Amino acid sequence: MKYAFAKRVRHLQSSVVRDILKIVNQGNVISFAGGLPDDGLFPTEAIKDAFTSAFEKGNKAFQYGETEGYRPLREVILERMGHKGIQGYDADNVLLTTGSQQAIDLLARVMISPGDVLLTEEPTYLAALQVFQSYEAQIIPVQCDENGMIMDDLKEKIKQYHPKMLYVVPTFSNPSGRVWSLERRKELIRIVKKQNVLVFEDDPYGDIQFTNESYTPIAALDNGSHVLYTSTFSKTAVPALRTGWIVGPYQIIRMMAQAKQANDLHSNSLAHQALYELCRNFDLDGHIKKISSVYGERKDIMVYHLQKAQREGLIKFVEPKGGMFLWLELQEQVNAEALLPRAVEKGMAYVPGAPFYAEAPKLNTLRLNFTHATDNQIKIGMDILIRMLEEVDVERTQLKSL
Ligand code: PMP
Repeated sequence: MKYAFAKRVRHLQSSVVRDILKIVNQGNVISFAGGLPDDGLFPTEAIKDAFTSAFEKGNKAFQYGETEGYRPLREVILERMGHKGIQGYDADNVLLTTGSQQAIDLLARVMISPGDVLLTEEPTYLAALQVFQSYEAQIIPVQCDENGMIMDDLKEKIKQYHPKMLYVVPTFSNPSGRVWSLERRKELIRIVKKQNVLVFEDDPYGDIQFTNESYTPIAALDNGSHVLYTSTFSKTAVPALRTGWIVGPYQIIRMMAQAKQANDLHSNSLAHQALYELCRNFDLDGHIKKISSVYGERKDIMVYHLQKAQREGLIKFVEPKGGMFLWLELQEQVNAEALLPRAVEKGMAYVPGAPFYAEAPKLNTLRLNFTHATDNQIKIGMDILIRMLEEVDVERTQLKSL
């Protein structure tokens, strides 16, 4: 039987990279490819206690609930976001989702018609690109530097394409680790208000910080009209509870709740109740500080081992100040995707950068995750990577001299 799938699934094809990485997960390869937090740091006992408290409520803890999610948790989330300056909302402005990934999907579902233009950073989060493509958005990347989107290019593209929405990961981006400066955030708000464009701010990593600098979410600069903000418990507590949220203008949140009703009625409300107990009875902020400090040390180890290759001109990178990723630019002619099988054979894996681009990929880029491997694995893995890049450099020099 030849199955006649819907046209939209053409964007869901498996890729060679995904197939290679599937093999990596089964073998002895040190992987820097996934975006996984360290399960050794999960607050398992506190989560157990939180579920016990939820169970003590009796059978009603297991009942169907509101599509928007467990209200007391939405209120706790609002309180936590208030500390970041995101204020002026009530629980009706918050929708709990199955991870922030579902928030991306639902927002695209209610806002994007085929052909609508969506502006993104370059590079940007791969799984968001896949969602936007599945709703047949026209994705236009805006040029970026280490401080965020370049505002002149943004203005130009708004003028040229009349986009409906802008998707940004302004704090410790996946994949680039980039942080937008405050000036760019303020300028962005000024521009979108003038031009009436929505901003979708995705902030799963903002709390994983290695310095004492503070970063104002773009949503904190808005007055509740132009920004939708999503975040998640996946990186700060555990991903398995699949709980994220989105906050924004009521009309949009309400429409998303209706779309969610059709999708899954509501998210896992038992997880919501446990997360509520966790936020109330456990020092989640202390825990976030603890994991951030461990991740920061791992980032330091990775950076330390990469510095030699940086001095030799084999790689370029900007040291991240938070998040989970380090973004490498290799020498211009080196193709990170073509090199992946060789790296895997030698015992390490990364994600090539190309799929993070909506168009014109930079083939000489790759993403490394530093939160899941141990210190020793990071050392071994970086040695393998650097030796391979040195070999490639020698081979290219020999080829040139032929
Ligand atoms: N946005 C970004 C930028 C991400 O990196 C991720 C996780 N990889 C998500 C959203 C989704 O996270 P979750 O669904 O686990 O909340």
